[in-house]
Amino acid sequence: MNAAELHAENISAWFGSHKVLDRVSLTMKAGEVTALIGPSGCGKSTFLRVLNRMHELIPSASLFGEVRLDGHDIYDSGERITTARRQIGMVFQKANPFPAMSIYDNTISGLKLAGVRATRQQKDLLVEDSLRKASLWDEVKDRLEQPGGGLSGGQQQRLCIARSLAVSPRVLLMDEPCSALDPTSTRRVEETIQSLRGQVTIVIVTHNMQQAHRISDECAFFLAAQNTPGVIVEHGDTAAMFDNPQDSRTTDYVNGRFG
Ligand code: ADP
Ligand code: MG
Repeated sequence: MNAAELHAENISAWFGSHKVLDRVSLTMKAGEVTALIGPSGCGKSTFLRVLNRMHELIPSASLFGEVRLDGHDIYDSGERITTARRQIGMVFQKANPFPAMSIYDNTISGLKLAGVRATRQQKDLLVEDSLRKASLWDEVKDRLEQPGGGLSGGQQQRLCIARSLAVSPRVLLMDEPCSALDPTSTRRVEETIQSLRGQVTIVIVTHNMQQAHRISDECAFFLAAQNTPGVIVEHGDTAAMFDNPQDSRTTDYVNGRFG
């Protein structure tokens, strides 16, 4: 199995002097789907960016703590940022394929960045395999040379998933990947996530409680009280978190009483 366990240990994060996460620890089990839930502004996106070394690209951003991929610290001084990015991919809220680039080239656009050389035949196989895994192949197989920007929003998001999968990530981070999609496209992306279970570790931020309930194995509830940094209030098995939360704030949030 290519999927790896991702473990965050005591992560604190700042923008300038503004502390937005306080000693957050979380284990995201290999091959499982972990959902991050919580109101806006509590640090979920920041936490995702810490997990694949994107946080450090923001001027003024700083952080403390460790992130281990199968036990190996991705922030170790000997580790290259590109290695972490390749192993830990990210899909954003707004689909961002290269609009003028073909569907085929979009799918394998990460190879060059990853320094991977491939023959035409290898590329053909990889394009088909990645698009199949992203549940997009049947819809685009006859128009691979057409521009990615010509696809519908939901198809563009699955193209971005295919592009991430083409470099064989061990973890895929998804930041509200369905919040700009219609219900049908959302269902397709959810089916894709289900079919990736076991092959890649998935960490997904969602504001949709039904979605978190449907697709995740484990759930972590983030919260930032007034003028304090974000923390994890509760974390555990998704069914248990929804049916029998341990913290009254979790009960209120999953039942839609705030946020
Ligand atoms: P969430 O994804 O849960 O909505 P974010 O991680 O986006 O939360 O934001 C957490 C806090 O960090 C917020 O107070 C937000 O204003 C702040 N923040 C996020 N990104 C930046 C940035 N690039 N520069 C400064 N502050 C930021
Ligand atoms: Mg966010």
